[in-house]
Amino acid sequence: MFCVNCFHKNTAVTNSRPNKKQPLVWRRRRCPSCGTLFTTYERPSLADNKPIHLPSGKTDTFNLGKLILSISKAFTHDPKAAEYHALWLAQTVEDTLSSQRQQVTPEDIEATTHDILKKFDELAAVQYAARHQLIVSLSRRGRPSLRGRGPRTDESPSR
Ligand SMILES: [Zn+2]
Repeated sequence: MFCVNCFHKNTAVTNSRPNKKQPLVWRRRRCPSCGTLFTTYERPSLADNKPIHLPSGKTDTFNLGKLILSISKAFTHDPKAAEYHALWLAQTVEDTLSSQRQQVTPEDIEATTHDILKKFDELAAVQYAARHQLIVSLSRRGRPSLRGRGPRTDESPSR
């Protein structure tokens, strides 16, 4: 990777740490020409690894920008939160879907986004559900869950 300061064509990795909870590698790089130190993150790209299976039978490419925008729209009550958190929330959705073995559908993207928003900001989750016509109800355990989306095979207590 070239240097972010002087555009020298090569930089050396001086330190590297895999994340224990996510498919993510943190790297510290140093430019041999100007000495600049900078950090990079390596993570799987859903767009390059998993096509989105549409109901028509066609496939689409995952679009992180679209997801960031739709998450931002769920924060009309707190625009600052959208500015600071929409990117990493969208990346968390991407990482979650990347680490699932099953095919990804638009419903999976919506359900995963809703689950992640719920843990972060209940009101944003409600707004997201309303915008995407997700039917949200309270389960017996008192936790909101998605209904009317057909059988879910990924039910687990942690989700
Ligand atoms: Zn440099």
